[in-house]
Amino acid sequence: PVMPSTVLHVAVLAFPFGSHAGPLLSLVRRIAAVAPNVTFFFFSTEKSNASIFSGMEKEDLGNIKPYNVYDGLSDNYVPSGHPLEPVNRFINATPGNYRVAMQKLVAENGKSFSCLITDALLWFGGEMAEEMNAKWVPLWTAGHHSLLVHVLTDVLRQKIGCNDVCEDQNIDFIPGLSAVKVADLPEGVVTGELDAPFSVMIHKMGLMLPRATAVAVNSFQGINPLIVDELKSRFQQLLNVGPFILTTQQPFLPDDHGCLEWLSKHRNASVAYISFGTVVTPPPQELTALADALEECEFPFLWSFRGNAEKLLPKGFLEKTRTKGKIVPWAPQLDILKHASVGVFVTHSGWNSILETIVGGVPMVCRPFFGDQNLNTRLIETVWEIGVGVDNGVFTKSAVLKALELTLSSEKGKLMRQKIAMFKESAMKAAKPNGNSQTNLKTLVELVTTENST
Ligand code: UDP
Repeated sequence: PVMPSTVLHVAVLAFPFGSHAGPLLSLVRRIAAVAPNVTFFFFSTEKSNASIFSGMEKEDLGNIKPYNVYDGLSDNYVPSGHPLEPVNRFINATPGNYRVAMQKLVAENGKSFSCLITDALLWFGGEMAEEMNAKWVPLWTAGHHSLLVHVLTDVLRQKIGCNDVCEDQNIDFIPGLSAVKVADLPEGVVTGELDAPFSVMIHKMGLMLPRATAVAVNSFQGINPLIVDELKSRFQQLLNVGPFILTTQQPFLPDDHGCLEWLSKHRNASVAYISFGTVVTPPPQELTALADALEECEFPFLWSFRGNAEKLLPKGFLEKTRTKGKIVPWAPQLDILKHASVGVFVTHSGWNSILETIVGGVPMVCRPFFGDQNLNTRLIETVWEIGVGVDNGVFTKSAVLKALELTLSSEKGKLMRQKIAMFKESAMKAAKPNGNSQTNLKTLVELVTTENST
């Protein structure tokens, strides 16, 4: 039972890259709204905080207080242009950067933290919580299947080896992963640089999670029951609390470029929506191939495009496709995927994009790039059958044409729509009052609003 008179302090530790901090904030806002006796101190870098808290007033935040931690870059830092460099420098600055900021607050408030809610990647949250006799609730912001891969990394390394791996081998020795091939595994598990900062961090995460009070996941039970059971057997508690787009309040999505109005002018399930998330830009030759296919095919398209389209796309493309295509620098993706006119989503298979397209009921054409994206694509194509990859894994004009044709105008495409509708129903059911994800949220609130008894 919650003692309303006790004021508790909870530290929230965000991972400040990709689409990590936003979903964590959604979860924390959901808990904070029903936990007036708790203050949530939200730690992330200045840049990440500025982005996720933008447009929110102090009153909107209520009992959530943002605090900045050092990003690992010195004042005279000059970017080398390598996209991973800021990530690596940040990881190298952990856990000290969080520790300093947290200790300062504890000293100021004269009160320690009763619970740490962290991005699961920040595995050291588990050690900190143990030192403080606090609870640790890590949030995994991606799918169950990739989580299981990181929890079982040592088993994978032992069974597959790390040198000269057979990329075509199926992971048939782990429940729920038998359709997955070694080549689908995120880099840093058995291939790639195993001692790179990110690989080491995520490996340690997998070892640490069984010690967590409860592991929260932005997903729902019905998407992967077998893997969920496997994870449950390894964790003290597994709480599926997603999809957040259904279980938590979402930030307002402005439609600055009139995407929705444009979509309304098109037939049901006829438009291809294209976006590769917040991190990835396909290489120049693939952008050209994709553009060539879009120009040639009969389908209208809406493309959320990072960078200068005029410069990066083939000469004359914008002019020639003006009547059938729309290119915007940023799109209200969730609203777009829910729009009846959208018939396919050309995606990098990022986890948030997958949840959004399930809720929209739109099948995918997948071009994965790194991290969990290959693994996600394998499940989408082979296990869930709600999308396709492109031939040989890269955009060529013919591969894109074939995939668009398949998803938008074949019987197979229709089947994919039916399958994705089933997952949508399962997600909606979990998010209903008394649904599995809502029940788990209640458990999580209870856990966060009470202290360890010892
Ligand atoms: N997104 C958006 N508008 C865009 C492009 C992306 O709102 O034009 C959002 C999208 O809805 C999703 C997130 O950015 O919530 C991308 O997350 P995901 O996990 O798919 O990929 P990541 O950015 O982490 O690679």
